[in-house]
Amino acid sequence: MAPALFKFSLKELQDLFTSGDIGALDIARSYLLRMSQVESKVKAYITVREREQILQEADTIDASLKQWRKTQPLMAMPLAIKDNICTHGTRTTCGSTMLEQFIPPYDATVVAACREQKFLLIGKTNLDEFGMGSSTEHSVFGPSRNPWNLNYIPGGSSGGSAAAVAADECVAALGTDTGGSIRQPAACCGVVGLKPTYGRVSRYGLVAFASSLDQIGPITKTVADAAMLLNVLAAHDPKDSTSSNCPAPDFMKSVKKKDVKKLTLGVPREFFSEGLDPDVEQHVREAIEVFQELGGTVKDVSLPSTEWAIAAYYIIATAEASSNLARYDGVKYGYRTKERKGLFDMYRQTRAEGFGAEVKRRVMLGTYALSSGYYDAYYAKAQSVRTLITRDFDAVFQEVDFLVTPVMPTTAFPLGEKLQDPLQMYLSDMYTISASLAGLPAISIPCGLSQAGLPVGLQLMGRPFEESTLLRAAYAYEQTTQWRKKRPPIR
Ligand code: GLN
Repeated sequence: MAPALFKFSLKELQDLFTSGDIGALDIARSYLLRMSQVESKVKAYITVREREQILQEADTIDASLKQWRKTQPLMAMPLAIKDNICTHGTRTTCGSTMLEQFIPPYDATVVAACREQKFLLIGKTNLDEFGMGSSTEHSVFGPSRNPWNLNYIPGGSSGGSAAAVAADECVAALGTDTGGSIRQPAACCGVVGLKPTYGRVSRYGLVAFASSLDQIGPITKTVADAAMLLNVLAAHDPKDSTSSNCPAPDFMKSVKKKDVKKLTLGVPREFFSEGLDPDVEQHVREAIEVFQELGGTVKDVSLPSTEWAIAAYYIIATAEASSNLARYDGVKYGYRTKERKGLFDMYRQTRAEGFGAEVKRRVMLGTYALSSGYYDAYYAKAQSVRTLITRDFDAVFQEVDFLVTPVMPTTAFPLGEKLQDPLQMYLSDMYTISASLAGLPAISIPCGLSQAGLPVGLQLMGRPFEESTLLRAAYAYEQTTQWRKKRPPIR
C-alpha cells in the first residue's frame, strides 16, 4: 500500500525524497492511486499520461540514484502543466477542437527546465479554450470541478491546474495568467498562485492568447513551493524576445522567516468598491490586520484609473488574440474541416468548426477594435488607459512596498451561473486585470473560507521584478494563519 505522499507540499516531498526515505516510485504510485480516487470527480486533466510511462520514468530516476542522493529541486516531483504549454510528445490542446490532436514537436522553455531536473509529468490540465474565460466552462472537454464543492467552478482559465493542486492530484502545477488566470483559480480553489512580472519567465512554447499580457507561473500548496518553482522558471531566454535580463535572485531566501517589519503595504480604495461580497471583504480586511500585527505599516492609497481597467483589457486582449489566432487556418497544423469547396471556404469552415463561441466572440471583438476607422477610438485609447494604469502604480509604489486587495469580488460561483452572460464573467477579473496591464508581479494566497465553505483569496501586488517582496510578505501571512492547513472535502 503506497503511503499518502500526496498530502505533502512540494518542499516537504522534496526533503523526504532527498533524505532517501522515499523513492520516485513511491511518489509516482501514491499519486497514481490518488488520481484513481478523485480525478473522475474533479476532472482537472485533459490528458493524463500513461501509468506505465510515469512508473517507468520514476524507476529510471530511482536506478540512477543508487550511489548518491544529492538531487535537484524538482527531481521525481509530480507536476501538472496547463494544456496551453507545449510538451514534446504529449498533446497540447488549449482546450480547443482546433488543437485536439496537436502533439508538439518541442518543449516550451519552462517544460525543458523542469525536464532537466527530471520531474514527473503527470498530465496536462484543463483550461478555458485558449485561456479565454474565468471558469474552465469554455473548454471543449467540459468544465473542471472545484474540489471544495463539485457543483462550483474551480475558476479559470487555469482551473484544471488549481483544482489538481487543491485535490492533491499533483504536488504543484504550472498555470498561465493573461488577466488573472493563475490568481483567480488559485483563489477559488484555496491554493497559492503567482503571476510573475511580465518578462520574468519565458513564454517560448506557450500558445499565445495576448502576447503583451501572457505570463507563466506556479500554482502550489504553499508560498515556499511557489518560491521553489519560480527558482526553476525564472531565467532569461534568448528564444523569447520579451524575456528580461533582470537577474533572478534565490527566491527561497524570501521564505525563511516571518518578516514584514519595515514593509509598508498599500490598500487601494478602488479595490473595495461596489460589487465586493461582504464576506470576501471581511476576510481581506482581517488579513490586512494580520500584516499590521506583524509590524507592517498600512497606508490607504488610490489607483484612480482602475475603473477603466476591464474595458481596456478586453480591447487589448481581444485585439492581440484576433491576430494571434489568425494562424489557425487549417493549413499549417491543427484541425481542418472535412467539408470544403475551395480555399476560402476551407478557411471559413475550419475556423467555424474549430473554435468555440467565446473564442469567436473575442476574435470578432478584436478584429473590430483593430479595423481602420475604429483603431484610434478603441485600440489606441485602450493603450493610453494602460499607460495611465501603469503610472498610477508607479506613483503608489513610491510610498508603499506592496498592495493588498481581494483577488475576486466573490468566491467561486456555481457551474453554469455566468455562462450565458459574458459581461458578468468578465467582471470576475476586475481585481486581477490591473496588474496584468501594468506587467506587475502578483500573488494570490488563501485568506479564509466563506460562510458557504468556499476559499477566499488575498492578492498582493508588487513593483516590477520584486517577486521576493511578495513572497516574503505572503510567507509571513501564511505562517501566521492556519488557512493553508484546510483541505477540500471533494464531494
Ligand atoms: N478571465 C480573463 C479572460 O477571460 C483572463 C484570462 C487569462 O488570464 N488567461 O480573458
